[in-house]
This record gives sequence, structure tokens and C-alpha cells, in this order.
Amino acid sequence: FQIKLPENEPIKEYLPGSPERIALKAELERQLVNPIEVPIIIGGKEIRTGNKEKMICPHDHQKVLGEYYVAGEKELLMAIEAAEAAKAEWENMPWEHRATIFLKAADLLTGKYRAKMSASCMLGQSKNAFQAEIDVICELADFLRFNTYYVQEIYKQQPNNSSGIWNRVEYRALDGFVAAITPFNFTAIGGNLATCPAMAGNTVLWKPSSTSVLSNYYVMQILIEAGLPAGVINFVPCRGVDFGKVVVNHPKMAGFHFTGSTDVFNQIWNQVGGNISNYVTYPRLVGETGGKDFIFAHESADVEALTCSIILGAFEYQGQKCSAASRAYIPESLWGDVKKRLEEEIGKLKMGDVRDFTNLVNAVIDHKSFNNIKGYLDYVKESSDAEIIIGGKCDDSVGYFVEPTIILAKTPKFKTMVEEIFGPVLTIYVYPNDQLDETLELCDTSTSYALTGSIFAKDRAAIIKMSRALDHAAGNFYINDKPTGAVVGQQPFGGSRGSGTNDKAGSAINLYRWMSQRTIKETF
Ligand code: NAP
Repeated sequence: FQIKLPENEPIKEYLPGSPERIALKAELERQLVNPIEVPIIIGGKEIRTGNKEKMICPHDHQKVLGEYYVAGEKELLMAIEAAEAAKAEWENMPWEHRATIFLKAADLLTGKYRAKMSASCMLGQSKNAFQAEIDVICELADFLRFNTYYVQEIYKQQPNNSSGIWNRVEYRALDGFVAAITPFNFTAIGGNLATCPAMAGNTVLWKPSSTSVLSNYYVMQILIEAGLPAGVINFVPCRGVDFGKVVVNHPKMAGFHFTGSTDVFNQIWNQVGGNISNYVTYPRLVGETGGKDFIFAHESADVEALTCSIILGAFEYQGQKCSAASRAYIPESLWGDVKKRLEEEIGKLKMGDVRDFTNLVNAVIDHKSFNNIKGYLDYVKESSDAEIIIGGKCDDSVGYFVEPTIILAKTPKFKTMVEEIFGPVLTIYVYPNDQLDETLELCDTSTSYALTGSIFAKDRAAIIKMSRALDHAAGNFYINDKPTGAVVGQQPFGGSRGSGTNDKAGSAINLYRWMSQRTIKETF
């Protein structure tokens, strides 16, 4: 049994008349007229509680996709018990058997369930067909395939021996269970956060985001169909605070795998710190958190490449990618041309229902997010330090729609230049050409984040200078490309500072965090 270095799952284009578009359209209609009930899954059993929540379409909030059952304290304790019960057999199962399950899940995802998975992501999280394809199909399949390959390669690493001594390392799972809390914006992240620790022999409690339960549940179903034993991953939609209280404080929590906002990760970290003497082992804390991702142009930048990257980097999936460009620094000498091209191209972007495949922009995730973004835009409208130069309209009468918006800031530390908004909003600061050094310094220091960033320049000396000045400003750093779209196996993903622990999703580094080595010396 030998897993070869995988290739990335090819992206389907869903061209008019293609079989994949026909299948996807039919599946979208099917899910819209067949609301479903999503159970909690503990120890392989479906559990239904007295507490249910609706799953709605963000682009049409009157459309209900179904309901999910909400776990409370009792179910969370049951899930911990189930994870503990399943642990020994799963951890000691031959690695090849474990690997086969995840590889089969990737094949089910990209084959038989492709349309179902994409449709659930489109309707439940308001992604267009392309955004759903690159998330829940290609990225998730890549995570499953590449991570099994990385585990295999880690397991091969063994220490040296000397005469009469056999040294070896056993890559054990952590001493307890792993808690995975996952965000709304990428179903691939949900699947990855739950499966990475499981690949390394851990058992897991998976709490999906309340606004993306449907597609995450379908991932769970695929894992079960692929042969995942009962109790290895327990699917527990619930309120964040309940999960925090019951699961994070539990003495057997040995790992915490999180993606979401910096605030929530900070709360959890504080909670773990306050509870530290109660754990059986120090919990491993892995978090990918917020960002205030930048695009920084030098006067030698190519204007077409720059404007195209600004538009795709800031507005694809309504700016709700943690890597989305949300602030840009443009030199005075380029601003006239850049502004003209932005006005021309943003004016052509279509916004609306995900079922119209010509819409690049769809709705933001929910009412809370809509209000938060609108609050920022209202703040700009009142301010004399910035103005909205493109877009700015918000309409939640049918769905949660916010126009792609460009703000021009007069001061480089204006509120929308430094705070994460998580919507289709980019703030631009135009800097004098002779203040490159000072502006690089501002870019590096004016936010607490360091997730992604792009620089644009044709001048090689400028590229080197800018890369050095911003060497800790982004965990994923792009030169002459947009700051979004990291591909598993090609650009391992994650940031530092307030953006996370930088344990790169889609890399061996992340998998090591879920392993606890036992070193054995045997003398003959
Ligand atoms: P969020 O509001 O922080 O929620 C993330 C998860 O935490 C959800 O499952 C949420 O549950 C849960 N949660 C909320 N409060 C909690 C608490 N007190 N205790 C325990 N769990 C709690 O983030 P989001 O809105 O889903 O995602 C957007 C954020 O994620 C942005 O900041 C973005 O930058 C970040 N993100 C980062 C990366 C990265 O790689 N760095 C990738 C994707 C997203 P409920 O849904 O039930 O509230």
C-alpha cells in the first residue's frame, strides 16, 4: 500500500449545456423543494433533540432548506463519551485502513455526490457554481488526498539506530479527543478540520457553523458512507457557548482545531488557559483566524493585472474569504488609471441569485453579517476622512445583498483600512510615490493581522525591497497575483499574529499537531 503524491482535483467549468451544469441545476431545484432534517450524529447514531433551527437561503431568506437539531449539554457529553469509546480501536487500526476511508470519501465527493455537495453550498452559503466547485469539491477532495499522503510520509520518518540498539518512533494520537469548531465560509475547512486529526488516529467532536450546517452534514454523510467507524467523528451542531462550556473545559480535550474569528479564538485560548491544570494533557491549540489582507502596488505595477486582482481578490464570494483583499495601497502615479479600470469593470459585475450562473456576486451569509457591513458603510457616509467611490448600496428585502464597494480613505489608519469587515468592501489609500518606505511600514504595522497579502511591481529591486519590508505581514504572500485562491499541495495556507497559529492547512505541519510521538529505545 503506497499512496502516490496526488494531483489536484481538476476544476469543472459548468459551461452552458455541459452535463455537470444540467445535473447541478436539477439538484438545486430538488433541494429547494425538498427541505431536510439534519440530525446530530453521535457514536454513529442519529440523535434528535427538542431544539431545532432553520436553515435558510441567504439570497432569498424566505426559502427554508430545512432544519437541524441543536445539541445541548447532554448530547455534548454523550459525544465525548462516544469519542473516547471509539478511540482505542481507531488509533490502533492499521494506517492503511484509515487512509482508505478518506480516499474513498474524496472519490464519492468528486463523483456520485458532486452535484449534491455543490448545490448545498450554493443554496446554504450563497456561493456561485464556481465558488462552490473550488470549495466543497476541489479543495476538500485535495485536503483528503494530500493529507493522507502527508500522514504516510510522516509515519515513514524514523530515527537512526546504532549497534545493539533499535530506536523507533510511534506516531500516536493525542491523549484524549479533539474538538473541531468550523466557520461558515468554506465547507472544505469544516471537512478538513474534522478529518485531519482523525487521520492521525484521533477521535473528534465536530461543531459546524450554525450558518452552514447543510453542506457540512453532507460531508459527514459521505465520510460515513466511505466507512468511517461510529464515534470517530461526532457531528454536533450546537451553540458556540455551549460547546465552549462543556467541551473546551473537559479534562480529556487534548486538541482544539479552530477556524473562525480572532475574537472567538482568543476567548477559547483564555478559557483553556484558565482551565489548564484540569486537563490530562496540555491541549494543542491550532487556530486560523481573521485577516485584513492587503494589496500593495509599486509605481512599476501592471495596471491590468492589479485591477483584475483587486476585483477578484476583494469581491469573489462577496469578500467573505479570510484571504480576501480588504485594503489596498496604490501609488499616486497609477491611481487615475486604476480608478478608471475599477469603475469600468465593477460596473459590469452582476449580483443576485446563485441559480443564475452569470452572477459573480451573491448574498452575504446572514442578517448579522449584513448589518455589520452596512454599519461600516453608514460610518463611512458620515465621515469626512473617507468616501465611497463605487457601490455602497445594501438591500435585504429579499436576500442579504451588498454591492461590491470601494472606499477611498484620506488617512491610512481609517477604520475600514484596519478592521476586518468580512464583506465585499475594499478600502484604498493612495500614497505619494516618494513615500514608499513609510507606506510599507504602515501596511506592516497598522493592523494586528498577518494572513494574506499581495504586492504588485515589475521592477525586480522593488519586489525584493517590498518582500523584505513585509516579511512578517502575511503568512501567504503573493507577488503579482491576487491574495486569494491558495491551492492544497501548492500553497499551504495560514497566517500568524492575530491571524492564527500558522500551522498551515494542507501541509504536514498541520498533521504533526495531531500526533503525540512515543520514542522507543530497545537494547539487545
Ligand atoms: P466565527 O463567528 O468566529 O465562528 C466560527 C465558529 O466558532 C462557528 O462554528 C461559531 O459557531 C463558533 N463560535 C462562535 N462563538 C463561539 C464561542 N463563544 N465558543 C465556541 N465557539 C464559538 O467566524 P465565522 O463568521 O464563521 O467565520 C468568519 C471568520 O473566520 C472571519 O474572521 C475569517 O477571517 C475567519 N476565517 C479564517 C480563516 C483562516 O484560514 N485564517 C479561514 C476562514 C475563515 P456559530 O456559527 O454557532 O456561532
